[in-house]
Amino acid sequence: MKIIEFGQDGSRHETTRSPGKGERMKILEFGDSGGGARPRSESTRSAEGSSGPAGRWEPAPRGGGSLVEPVRPKSLPARRSASRSLRMHVLDLGKLRLDKNFMVANSTVAMARNPNPPGQLIDIPVSAYYIEHPDGNVLFDTGCHPDWGGPDGRWPEGIQDVFPVIGGEDCYLPHRLEAMGIGPNQIRHVVLSHLHCDHAGCIEYFRKSNIIVHEDEFAAAALHYVKRIHTTPYALKDIEAWMRLDLNWREVGRHDPDRNIVEGVKLLNFGAGHSYGMLGLQVALRDHADVILASDACYTSENYGPPMKPPGISHDSIGFARTIQRIRALAEDCGAEVWFGHDIPQFDSLRKADEGWYE
Ligand SMILES: [Zn+2]
Ligand SMILES: [Zn+2]
Repeated sequence: MKIIEFGQDGSRHETTRSPGKGERMKILEFGDSGGGARPRSESTRSAEGSSGPAGRWEPAPRGGGSLVEPVRPKSLPARRSASRSLRMHVLDLGKLRLDKNFMVANSTVAMARNPNPPGQLIDIPVSAYYIEHPDGNVLFDTGCHPDWGGPDGRWPEGIQDVFPVIGGEDCYLPHRLEAMGIGPNQIRHVVLSHLHCDHAGCIEYFRKSNIIVHEDEFAAAALHYVKRIHTTPYALKDIEAWMRLDLNWREVGRHDPDRNIVEGVKLLNFGAGHSYGMLGLQVALRDHADVILASDACYTSENYGPPMKPPGISHDSIGFARTIQRIRALAEDCGAEVWFGHDIPQFDSLRKADEGWYE
């Protein structure tokens, strides 16, 4: 077992030993040490440019370089005041255009009296959520990579055709956060609901953050990469970019319980369903009901029901239904609102980052 520890001064120590009896390797650590990013004060946020300690919005270098980057020094942990409550900002990252049958199965059904009903193309929102927190800022999902399309695009041609991105340059995550005066180094934890290309497209920008992902999702994406499977929403060119960088991956185990990342922000381990390993977040707010960020564990209120309606495609349909039941029970228990992954009217009704925040 390789043990990597980070000292208070950010130094890295590596030792190797066999795990003791009954000892389980710990892969997810939310302590104060290790690749965190410091939150900035309100006053410095607007004054500072993107090239300061906040970091630059740099995509991964193009292919051809070494897969192994030199080890970077980790940033020092900062003592933070807990006097300020969290704020959640809703980031509008453009839209995907696709056939409604992908969202809700059998939306269009041919019948004897209507043998060739027209398909329905709909534009669904792509989103991410930036949570400003005194103990470390959290980002939930990252949207699509700005270079998703075109002949040299990150996404395979078939995927570009099935769900193209609709939106201008300013809809991508780096632009959205930059417009708020936020640099990548200010995000301490990046939580990925899963690794599909409309959620994990901008991971490569967060070189100092903890990148939190379900272990089964991580394994599935790696398998798709190695087997060169181009027909699913894992963008192999995105994965290639992650491999060229020394990212701080933190895996959530299949049997790990739900737990707080920071106070008021709970990681929900949904497991298999829409994809191989789904994560959600439950965010406790002072002036608003708790919010459950469901992402693609539940695309829309139509899928949620009741009655629950399955989507056109899911990795594990039984897991999908079980997750919806779990989300519903949790929401009823806590009086929480469920914010769905791609729900048009619900997303339209939310306050976006340029209009304010939730706290
Ligand atoms: Zn997905
Ligand atoms: Zn999605």
